[in-house]
Amino acid sequence: MVCELISVGTELLLGNIVNTNTQFLAEKCALLGLSSYYQVTVGDNRERLAEAIRTALKRSDIVILTGGLGPTEDDLTKEVCAEVMDFPLAEDAHTRERLEEFFKNSIYKKISENNWKQAMIPDGAKVLDNHNGTAPGLILEKYGKSAILLPGPPNELIPLFMEQVYPYLQKLQPEIIRSQMVKICGVGESQVEDKLLDLIDKQTNPTIATYAKTGEVHLRVTAKAGSTEEADKRIKPVVKEIKRRFGDFVYSTREDETLEMAVVRLLRKLELTVTTAESCTGGMLAARLTNVPGVSEVFREGFITYANKAKRKILDVSKSTLKKYGAVSEQTAKEMATGGVFATDADVCVAITGLAGPGGGSEEKPVGLVYIACYLKDEVKVEKYQFKGNREKIREQSVVKALDLLRRSILDNYR
Ligand code: ATP
Ligand code: MG
Repeated sequence: MVCELISVGTELLLGNIVNTNTQFLAEKCALLGLSSYYQVTVGDNRERLAEAIRTALKRSDIVILTGGLGPTEDDLTKEVCAEVMDFPLAEDAHTRERLEEFFKNSIYKKISENNWKQAMIPDGAKVLDNHNGTAPGLILEKYGKSAILLPGPPNELIPLFMEQVYPYLQKLQPEIIRSQMVKICGVGESQVEDKLLDLIDKQTNPTIATYAKTGEVHLRVTAKAGSTEEADKRIKPVVKEIKRRFGDFVYSTREDETLEMAVVRLLRKLELTVTTAESCTGGMLAARLTNVPGVSEVFREGFITYANKAKRKILDVSKSTLKKYGAVSEQTAKEMATGGVFATDADVCVAITGLAGPGGGSEEKPVGLVYIACYLKDEVKVEKYQFKGNREKIREQSVVKALDLLRRSILDNYR
């Protein structure tokens, strides 16, 4: 079933307000398994609104209109929709009663004449009581199509939709949509797509969508089915196959689990303590780790050793290493990671040193050059990266790679 959203309001066209209603409704409709091909925004204009409704009713099964249900002159949605769908307007006693009740309890003692306009309802429409405002929602059904009219203010629209429209749509659309996330770190987006090309090419149900994030690729496997169980049955073998192809590069299959959460989960499971030693990322790695609830069980200390002096004093990086190889080098990264473990008696230490720019680069050591080291069980792994992008991007990528190296080092050692 195809569902189309029409937002009504000149203030939307002018960019005076952000169209959060469409975002909310689109997400809910997708969850319900409704197909979505068009979203339309139209101003408070009779002819153009009528045209938008006519077009939508031709190409879609369900049309959800938001806004323009209020009592003022420019609120036209109900009148125009009733006219297009050929419903005469008639006063609805129930809605009139609710209006009277609403005004009795409100600060506006007097009901202005145009408020009664809201009691005029397309004859034969389903009335959806609005508990947070005066304009009721409406459902108009004709020619096997449904037009659903909802008030614009989100605090009215959201509860009204969830309580009365969602169950209505569920009945219209018995198919449900389920999806599962597969989160990958350490493989580029095009590589991921290459490796899945055969699966992506023949996909219909479930489908696989890829989303590139900084240093990560997320895959969403989505199935349509008559029941949750049936959908899960379709999703499971595809997720299993993806995991088989990417192995340890898959860090999570949970929607709400971030890379740092997966790392902390692993550290907690293996009862390993961790320390961070950062230069160019200035504590960003420690910040991401400490964002995770429960990290105190495993996180020891985070050092920001920006100056060479700090690297020497806190992490015991040798003077000769700094002099011979420089602060941004494999050797310094190694000594930072080793020093971090000895300074805190942690099991693991991840160290980052690099050039975030924009200045300070050279031919030999260009901006974006970053070394990441991980000390674990008397062994230090170092990885060299040449990141692209501005200072922020370089620092962000460094943190992702550090979390990834930490994760892979642990997996390599504890299996
Ligand atoms: P009212 O009875 O308040 O006039 P209404 O149903 O006529 O409600 P509008 O007049 O179109 O709706 O919009 C009223 C307010 O609702 C807007 O000023 C805005 O704050 C909010 N609103 C309307 N449409 C949207 C939208 N698409 N996304 C977010 N907010 C919206
Ligand atoms: Mg209005």
